[in-house]
Amino acid sequence: MVSQAGLVAGRARAHTIAGNRSGGPVAHTDVIVLGAGIVGTSIAVHLTKHGLGVALIDRAGPGEGTSYGNSGIIEGNTVFPPAFPADWGSLVRIAFKRSPQANYHLSYLPRIAPWLVAFRAASRPSRLIETAQLMRPLFGRAVAEHEALAAEAGAEPYLSRRGWLKLYRTDRAFAALASELDLAARLGIANVLLDRDEARALEPALAPVFRHAVHWTAAVSVSNPLALTRAYAARFAALGGLLLTGDARTLHRANPYWRVETAVGPLDAGDVVIALGPWANDVLSPLGVKLPLAVKRGYHRHFRPQGTALSRPVLDVENGYVLAPMEQVIRVTTGVEFAARDAPPTPVQFDRLLPAARQLFALGQPVEAQPWLGARPCFPDSRPVIARARRQRGLWLAIGHAHWGLTLGPATGRLIGEMMIGATPFCDPKPYGADRFAG
Ligand SMILES: Cc1cc2nc3c(=O)[nH]c(=O)nc-3n(C[C@H](O)[C@H](O)[C@H](O)COP(=O)(O)OP(=O)(O)OC[C@H]3O[C@@H](n4cnc5c(N)ncnc54)[C@H](O)[C@@H]3O)c2cc1C
Repeated sequence: MVSQAGLVAGRARAHTIAGNRSGGPVAHTDVIVLGAGIVGTSIAVHLTKHGLGVALIDRAGPGEGTSYGNSGIIEGNTVFPPAFPADWGSLVRIAFKRSPQANYHLSYLPRIAPWLVAFRAASRPSRLIETAQLMRPLFGRAVAEHEALAAEAGAEPYLSRRGWLKLYRTDRAFAALASELDLAARLGIANVLLDRDEARALEPALAPVFRHAVHWTAAVSVSNPLALTRAYAARFAALGGLLLTGDARTLHRANPYWRVETAVGPLDAGDVVIALGPWANDVLSPLGVKLPLAVKRGYHRHFRPQGTALSRPVLDVENGYVLAPMEQVIRVTTGVEFAARDAPPTPVQFDRLLPAARQLFALGQPVEAQPWLGARPCFPDSRPVIARARRQRGLWLAIGHAHWGLTLGPATGRLIGEMMIGATPFCDPKPYGADRFAG
């Protein structure tokens, strides 16, 4: 932890200490970034490179929140977001808690009902196409921004450029992909259709229990997402940024600044960026900023591989789980769970998916006694908010990255950095504005 003296040492021009009215010392910087997940850390790096004094504040270490536990896929290839089920069969399976893709807590449904209605509306085919087009500038930039950041952070060894595989066990599920492949072709998103043998030539450890595969060749996978965020945070510190411990819920106005209490005392800044992932509303609601941010919870558990390992992540589409090769282990990640963010874990999806996973790949013993639980921060239209907050001077939002926070962290960092310094942003930020939820 940096000392109070360390607060000024980081970047002499931009971090200063002055007396406050009550007589205690108050540190000052240009920008406070709240939340050191992959999104906040990437933003902090970009802002520092623009010459700003930046303090990145978290109650835990960088990357230890949601950004720790994901499937590690930098999915620049994303076309359609996950959609509300269109067929009755899927809905009935979810309702009767038979689906490996989705689980829910009954007591939570009344609270999330309006969000689900909006999610369903955003899942109409025309809206999915619109979302794919609006998100393309961000996804199209995702891999290049990670590669640039990883290169300067010495984190390249964590990146693997082998793409990822989506497997289809039935002709019906594969046929349902037609419109996505069509749009991918129009948007220039690379993929290769493989039969079972071709896919097994790429991944010999997969059992022949599927019929079709799509190799999304341009995706990049990460062998240790926690280490990647830590490397980006180390790069931020090396550039003169300040990494501090503090509770974001202490954010308040100390006119004309924003103030946060940190472990080394109060810190003021003219601008603050909320990058708190699923915890954003803990800070935004008391400020009167109302946004329809919900969570899709998800779990992972590590297993030791038996025999040949996997060299790229694999999604078993009909069974809704990912096998993600991490350092020495296979991380099995689940689909979504609609439940209160802080409700106790209910990892029942593993019971539903593990028989299929063991059929596909020789999973050995689990590494941990209990699965890890995380919460994807999601807006119903599957787009993040990367914007200045309305009616709140100096308050910026970088939240709601849903299934793609790892993917989009560095691209978000570039975009919000350009917006904050008044440069021409690399893409039109309007689709990611908070205004779309106004009224
Ligand atoms: C099972 C699963 C699989 C996934 N797979 C992928 C994938 O393959 N590819 C992909 O792109 N995305 C994936 N995601 C999504 C991705 O992990 C998230 O979108 C991303 O991590 C969100 O990053 P973030 O920085 O916004 O939030 P976080 O990483 O959660 O960061 C928020 C930070 O805020 C801090 N914080 C919270 N409250 C406070 C407070 N009061 N005071 C101070 N600090 C606070 C937390 O400690 C945390 O560090 C997956 C998610 C899950 C759950």
